[in-house]
Amino acid sequence: MQHVHSVGGVDLSYYVLCKRKLWLYKKGIGMEDQSDRVLQGKLLHESAYPRIEKKELLIDDSFVIDAIDGEYVREIKLSSKMPESDKMQLLFYLYQLSLRGINKKGLISYTKEKRTVEVILTEENKMKVKKAINEVYQVLNQPSPPVVTKVPYCKSCAYYSFCYVKEADEYDA
Ligand code: SF4
Repeated sequence: MQHVHSVGGVDLSYYVLCKRKLWLYKKGIGMEDQSDRVLQGKLLHESAYPRIEKKELLIDDSFVIDAIDGEYVREIKLSSKMPESDKMQLLFYLYQLSLRGINKKGLISYTKEKRTVEVILTEENKMKVKKAINEVYQVLNQPSPPVVTKVPYCKSCAYYSFCYVKEADEYDA
């Protein structure tokens, strides 16, 4: 099968959060801005962890990780509100590294809670990542976006007004 899009860690995290968000984001529907929680997190490491030197590491021109620190790949997040999507994103990076013969463990640091979570690429997690990547392609191959499904994340999502514009119109009328 031919795939037009390449898939990255952020796509995998969006896949976990909301398949509609994933679709809209990948089709270039540009509602994302810096008020978005995921992007806010991306900017954080700039100030949060100045001692980790290698930031925004680009591997094989295909994906970006926050930092490699000894045996760990590190991701830095604002808060632990989206642990499953954070974990999937990091598992994706660990998986991609393992395909290149580099075996690392992962650490997610949550700045608000000052808490760090270890993520290991077990065989089971490897299967999870592979399955998620396949499903991301399935979502992206759909001709129109998946329907709006209310999830807790909606209120923090940059697409909120886009998805709920109808409700807002009705409210205004
Ligand atoms: S507002 Fe909700 S339904 Fe719409 S893209 Fe964001 S998370 Fe998905």
